[in-house]
Amino acid sequence: MTAGSKTIELRETHAGAAVGRALNVSPDSRVVLIRRLRLADGEPMALGDAARPADRVPGLTREALENASFYELLEKEYGVVIASGMQSIEPTVTNDEESELLGVPLHSPAFLFERTSRTATRRDGRVRPLALPRRPLPAGGGAVAAARPSGRSGAFADRRCRGTDSMKRAGVSYFGVRIPRHARRDLEDIAARGYTAVLHTFSENDLAYYRGTMAEIVAASHELGLEVQMCPWGVGRTFGGEAESRWVTFHPEACQVLDDGRRVATGCLNNPVYRAFCKEWADAALEAGTDYVFWDEPHWTVPEHVGVDDPERWACVCQVCAELSGSGPVQGSDPGSATVS
Ligand SMILES: [Zn+2]
Repeated sequence: MTAGSKTIELRETHAGAAVGRALNVSPDSRVVLIRRLRLADGEPMALGDAARPADRVPGLTREALENASFYELLEKEYGVVIASGMQSIEPTVTNDEESELLGVPLHSPAFLFERTSRTATRRDGRVRPLALPRRPLPAGGGAVAAARPSGRSGAFADRRCRGTDSMKRAGVSYFGVRIPRHARRDLEDIAARGYTAVLHTFSENDLAYYRGTMAEIVAASHELGLEVQMCPWGVGRTFGGEAESRWVTFHPEACQVLDDGRRVATGCLNNPVYRAFCKEWADAALEAGTDYVFWDEPHWTVPEHVGVDDPERWACVCQVCAELSGSGPVQGSDPGSATVS
């Protein structure tokens, strides 16, 4: 038997509720819908409908699909590897369109196969599945078997050894939960799944209201044998993260200035007042017990993020930056006349 296929339909559209749910994307997302007639020795045998997020299969054509295996095509052209899938089978009968395409009488008995596939790699190749050995957790909670000694000196000694052992190191980020008993349960789960490190987000809100709680969460992480990093989550709107910044509203004079003179709600990385605040944040993170401080995505402002609908604008031309770059400040960038958007 020679297997083949004919593309009946290939179009881009909104995912809608059902496809959106199956692909785990918003109903508004663009998807590519593909309907193919599967052939056996040139005779119609089955109809196949497939949906893929549009941004994962840019430039997909009918020609490329003709007589090709969809999965092979995904792997070869788009670097998408199917790692797992769920398939259900149910008996059905053919409708008008299906009957015509398959060349069978209306309401012919048929099987409906439904399959949702999960990919091993994203298109950018940055996310890969991890096969981590699970770690046993004692029934009563508390320390994980073979947990490293808690306390900072122990942590450092352990880190020195770790480079030479064969233990796989992997970490996850953890954020938002500030109820210690819930955080502890999640951290136990993270440790039991074989992770060796955790990144705790430490936002301005945490700095203002949850310093003690964060110290508790860091201590619980260490007790479970997890190495701890902390990142300045959304601090000054200069670092990665969706948290809001109160600091920028109190310190407009230390915020970035666009090239057209508008001051925007993002701390300026060169401004000494803002740098002092970052240091204060780092001191608090160390005080909370973190092993590392991770300066996550420090960036100049993204106009769109501060409500400036002009991607051509750039920062920063504040007085401090202008002096550092050897040019004078642009008009309107002095604190007295600046506005914060
Ligand atoms: Zn600046």
